[in-house]
Amino acid sequence: MSVIEDNIREIRENIAEGALKSGRNPSEVKLMAVTKTVDDDRILEAIEAGVDIMGENYIQEAKRKIETMGVDVKWHMIGHLQSNKAKYAVRLFDMIHSIDRMGLAAELDKRSAAAGRIMDILVEVNVSGEESKNGVGADEAFSLISQIARLDNLSIRGLMTMPPWFDDPEDARPYFVALRELRDRIVAEEIPGVEMRELSMGMSGDYRVAVEEGATIVRVGTAIFGARVY
Ligand SMILES: *Cc1c(COP(=O)(O)O)cnc(C)c1O
Repeated sequence: MSVIEDNIREIRENIAEGALKSGRNPSEVKLMAVTKTVDDDRILEAIEAGVDIMGENYIQEAKRKIETMGVDVKWHMIGHLQSNKAKYAVRLFDMIHSIDRMGLAAELDKRSAAAGRIMDILVEVNVSGEESKNGVGADEAFSLISQIARLDNLSIRGLMTMPPWFDDPEDARPYFVALRELRDRIVAEEIPGVEMRELSMGMSGDYRVAVEEGATIVRVGTAIFGARVY
């Protein structure tokens, strides 16, 4: 068994444990392999081990991989997206996790209409309020989501967050709880056209905690592929 296959098996076991702890079926949690800087061969190993969602951060890199790898998996955009790259994003991705402002949403909506498709999106929330982080503030999320809900070619599927980095993953728990509670408050608003099925949270260091707190998509790079070489 390859190292990558082995890592994935262990991660799936941890996910299952966390899901059961939170009273959920392990099948409700999807594992995304974060493939930035990872070679095609190693991505293929992850796919062979059964991972079917790949997460990419950069348009250029994703474009090359998606157009040349010839594999039937889903590709999600998880990196910061500039509005002027929206047209490429619409062509390449099945879902975009990093929608945090109306200008970007409007541009994506326009480009999705032109391409004749509906784009699934998540709204990225900065729950910690750190200046350096992308994402809409929790307080502004309601207004952003109701505005995006009026766009015909975007479909809001849930929320995404990236807590601050901690040595101890337990320190990230309050941020995962905050995202889940925000999700519940948004659901209670019953905004037409808004679905809050997905919570994209948890990375290599803290995905176990994120799953315990309700994550439905965990975004894991290093724990699958080893440290990234830039
Ligand atoms: C790189 C990245 C990840 C994966 O991080 P690891 O610590 O390697 O698992 C997850 N989410 C986002 C948004 C990223 O940019």
